[in-house]
Amino acid sequence: MKMTTIRNDRYQQDDVLSAIQSAGSVLLFGHVNPDGDTLGSVLALKLRLERMGKRVQAMVDGFVPGYLAFLPGAESVMNAEAVTEAFELAVAVDVASSDRLGKCEALFTAAEKTAVIDHHGTNVGYAHINMIDEHASATAILLYRLFAQMDLPMTQEEAICLYTALSTDTGNFIYDSTNAESFAMMGGLMEAGLPLAEYSRMLFRQKELLHVRLLAETLPSLRVTGNGRIAGLCLTLEQMQRAGANGGHAEGIVNYAIDLEGVGMAYFAREVEPGKVKVSLRALQPFAVDQVAAKFGGGGHKLAAGLTLVMPMEEVIRTVEAELEAVL
Ligand code: 5GP
Ligand code: MN
Repeated sequence: MKMTTIRNDRYQQDDVLSAIQSAGSVLLFGHVNPDGDTLGSVLALKLRLERMGKRVQAMVDGFVPGYLAFLPGAESVMNAEAVTEAFELAVAVDVASSDRLGKCEALFTAAEKTAVIDHHGTNVGYAHINMIDEHASATAILLYRLFAQMDLPMTQEEAICLYTALSTDTGNFIYDSTNAESFAMMGGLMEAGLPLAEYSRMLFRQKELLHVRLLAETLPSLRVTGNGRIAGLCLTLEQMQRAGANGGHAEGIVNYAIDLEGVGMAYFAREVEPGKVKVSLRALQPFAVDQVAAKFGGGGHKLAAGLTLVMPMEEVIRTVEAELEAVL
């Protein structure tokens, strides 16, 4: 009984819908180091709200990575400093905890009315209204459910945004989180005119030159430990600068570690500031890395999580490998 109550409290779809419909102006927030799900979902919602005649602004702490620059409205995403007027409603999209808003957190918290739309199991429901479903394979699924309740046909641009969000968060429909609803939603997006071949190529085949250069810098660092069950990669700030790359160019590099035959857990450690290292963790069942991330103040999912450590790279490697070996 108690569990049911908690679940219902965390899934207020009708309340989120009416808050969105009644607000004249809406601020939308993605998470720091924005990925396809947060940006695609934010921009799909932005397009829809604009069609409904509302004043909308999309905010994120950080830059839109180059591989997502094609998203309709990507150029309109702003940083926190840019907002001066008041908005009636603030919505955090795919943001597991309020600190994941980064520099936008104060702006979100200050809003008179706040809402969360998210699919992270670790989300405690930090807004006035919360729509959280950890069984949804992407936050885009929740947006699609909301759109279905509205009296508007889906546009091609909305479909492109939602497809980007869903396909990136499911690893192009191969992660465990992929389910029948993912494909039902794809049916709806195709009906809305999604140019699948064109956009899937852009997202999953085409690579930026700087990504490939960064990969070449990173691969020599490959370390295999734990009797071949753990693989790790690392990248220093100096290497990043030498390649002329930014964090967005490092997206997907961790997969070269987790995709090694026989490996069950992997990490990719990337220095983001001198002495500050962002670690991406990945696991294959039956292993899980969410608790490892949580132990160091990070978070995420069982099979994909992340954390940031303030220590030299050699110490990061030692620490992370010891934690992963403990999971083994
Ligand atoms: P990635 O390794 O691709 O950056 O992130 C993998 C997953 O872990 C994503 O779901 C992301 O939201 C989550 N994640 C990554 N870094 C952090 C972090 O520092 N804190 C929390 N709470 N989640 C993170
Ligand atoms: Mn997501």
